[in-house]
Amino acid sequence: MKKFLTTVKKLPVVKEVGDIGQVSFVPSHRARRINLTVKVTGEVRVAVPKRASFKDAERFVLSKREWIKRQFNRLEGSQSVVDEYAGRIENLDIDKAAAGIAERLREIAAEFGFSYNRLTIRNQKTRWGSCSMKNNLSLNIKLALLPGELRDFILVHELAHTEIKNHGPAFWQKLENIYPNARELDKQINRLGALLRIPLS
Ligand SMILES: [Zn+2]
Repeated sequence: MKKFLTTVKKLPVVKEVGDIGQVSFVPSHRARRINLTVKVTGEVRVAVPKRASFKDAERFVLSKREWIKRQFNRLEGSQSVVDEYAGRIENLDIDKAAAGIAERLREIAAEFGFSYNRLTIRNQKTRWGSCSMKNNLSLNIKLALLPGELRDFILVHELAHTEIKNHGPAFWQKLENIYPNARELDKQINRLGALLRIPLS
């Protein structure tokens, strides 16, 4: 890219396009067609292949106006979810939240016949929960912020690890015995986890 920019001085070009706002037009050797992306920062970026003109690229962007607006809305929605969770984490009554999670875990374990050893609940940065080889469970206090069904699904996930340590077919079968929609719930929790930067383990 750098090499290319030294030979074509006029690009990349940042230009206002219609009511979309600023759009970055970036020359690309590799792009086979005009390629539009909306970055998480909200930047609209257009890769322009050598044989396409600047005007072509601008017309292309305008033709994708509705799609770009939808991406903006989605980004705003995501940001409001992140902000909402940040506020609720600050205002969380830690002791009450931990007691609630522990109680729900006991209930679910009893209902489905799981047993575990020690339970630790902390404000973890990187995990919703984990299960050690000795079946000690470690859970994230942020579980208290989740919709009940997603919270329970994660508790079931960690409890299932007391019997199966990997995420293989037997593990999924166990989840699906309890939650026929386990795959969908897993997707939901992954989407939320990606926003909040908490992967499911
Ligand atoms: Zn897991």
